[in-house]
Formats: sequence, structure tokens, C-alpha cells
Amino acid sequence: MFDRFNRNLNYLRISVTDRCNLRCTYCMPEEGIRLFNHSEILTYNEIAGFTKVAASNGVTKVRITGGEPLVRKGISALVRMLSDIEGITDLSMTTNGTLLKQFAGELKAAGLKRVNISLDTIDPVKFKEITRNGNLNDVFDGITAAIDAGLSPVKINCVISKSKEEEEAKRVTKYCNDNNLEIRYIRQMDLVRGHFSVVEGGTGGNCELCNRLRLTSNGKLKPCLFSNLEFDIRELGYEKAIQMAVEAKPECGTQNDTGSFYNIGG
Ligand code: SAM
Repeated sequence: MFDRFNRNLNYLRISVTDRCNLRCTYCMPEEGIRLFNHSEILTYNEIAGFTKVAASNGVTKVRITGGEPLVRKGISALVRMLSDIEGITDLSMTTNGTLLKQFAGELKAAGLKRVNISLDTIDPVKFKEITRNGNLNDVFDGITAAIDAGLSPVKINCVISKSKEEEEAKRVTKYCNDNNLEIRYIRQMDLVRGHFSVVEGGTGGNCELCNRLRLTSNGKLKPCLFSNLEFDIRELGYEKAIQMAVEAKPECGTQNDTGSFYNIGG
């Protein structure tokens, strides 16, 4: 699928839930969010059905994200459904890692290829502050479990304020180097103000090269993270929603007034 600017849109990011077991300060308000009703959230059959249509239109790469994808019940069943779709050659997940100890083995068996795990600090006290009460050891255990299960590569997503030379980021870099993990530095973004930049070590944030479509947990197809454009896949039908999103994909991101990474998936 080529858009108006000749970008080949072959990458679909799917947010499977708006729920999360952490409350990272830069992502979610402490008091929580208005959660979608269960009927608003796409079923696994709908997600797989949509992905099948996307694959028939040229999507080859799928990432499962959230909210926290591992808090959605039976997530490995969805992984299996997506990995069975013809044409999907790269199936990955972005997770905070806290539940990977429990799930890494079954995710791998279901067809997940690789994971990105979010880690902004290796200091347990700072981790508790950033995540508003998370336990850093759960993430370390999750990283070990992912490696042991054969999910490869395991990449680390590290949110930074301005630079990867910040003390906290430097410690995460050393941890990654010591443990043979790839690291990507994501500058803290502000959807509402339209503040975003290129992900160092990754491909995100570069409008010219953007090959992404995003499906929110409540079934809106978004052609751009930094835009209010969205197309309801239940209302429009899968094929039509894809066609409209591809046609509407802006040349460059501007801003997104909802400001909610936890629904769109970051
Ligand atoms: N719960 C999963 C996780 O923690 O990786 C997946 C969803 S989370 C929204 C996806 C990514 O978005 C994480 O790496 C997170 O750090 C990042 N993120 C969330 N809010 C952000 C912000 N304001 N600026 C930059 N990255 C952000």
C-alpha cells in the first residue's frame, strides 16, 4: 500500500487494551483513565480479521502493544491467530516486561518473534517513582525470561528527557551493553503539543520514512500518531477503513488532541 507520498505502509501496530498495570508518569494520569467498556474493545476475532485484510493489502509487519498487552486475558491466543495469517512475517510486542516471566514461553510457542521491553532506569527507587509503584525486579525477570524463551532480539525502549547522555539513560545503556541487549532511546513526547523526534536506534518519529498504521484498542485506524485523523473499522468496514487511512496519511505529524499513548500504543 503506497500513500500519497510514496511511502509503503507495511507496518501495523495494534493496541490490544487501554489497561495497564503500571502508571508511568509521562503516559498515564495517577488517578487512572476512563477505561473503555468491554463492548468498545475489539475482540480477538475482529483484530485478526482486520489484520488479515491488512495483510492482503501488503502489511507484513505487526506489533502488539497497549496499554499493557500482557494484561489482556488470553493474549497468546491472539498471537497465535496473528502468526497464522499469511503474509505476516514479523510479529513483535512492546511490553513493560513485568509479566513476561509468566508469559514469555507461551508467547514464543504461539509464534511471537521478538519483544521490545520498556526500561527507563535500573534504579529500583526511581523505577517505583516513574511507574508509580512498579517493581523493577519483575522487569529484570521478564528480560531474562524473554531471552531464555528465545524471543530475539530483545530490545529495550528507554524514554529520555533530552539526551541519551543523561545519567539515568547512561546506566540503562551500560546494563544493555553488559547483557547484550539492543537499546532505543525515545525522547519524551507530547502528543497534544506535537512534540516528537526521531527515535535513536529505531525508526519511529521520522515522518519521511513512516510506514505505519495504528489500530487502537477500540477499533480506530490511525494513519499518524501525531494527528487526530482516525477511521472506525467497525463503522466503515476493514477494507474501506484501510483505504481511507492510507489516502489520508499526512506528510508529517502535527498534534493529537487526545494525548493518550495508552490507547494508541506509543
Ligand atoms: N505497556 C507497554 C510498554 O510499557 O512498553 C506498551 C505500551 S507503551 C504506551 C509503549 C511505549 O510508549 C513505551 O516504550 C513507553 O515508554 C512509550 N511512551 C509512553 N508515553 C510516552 C511519551 N509521552 N513519550 C515517549 N514515549 C512514551
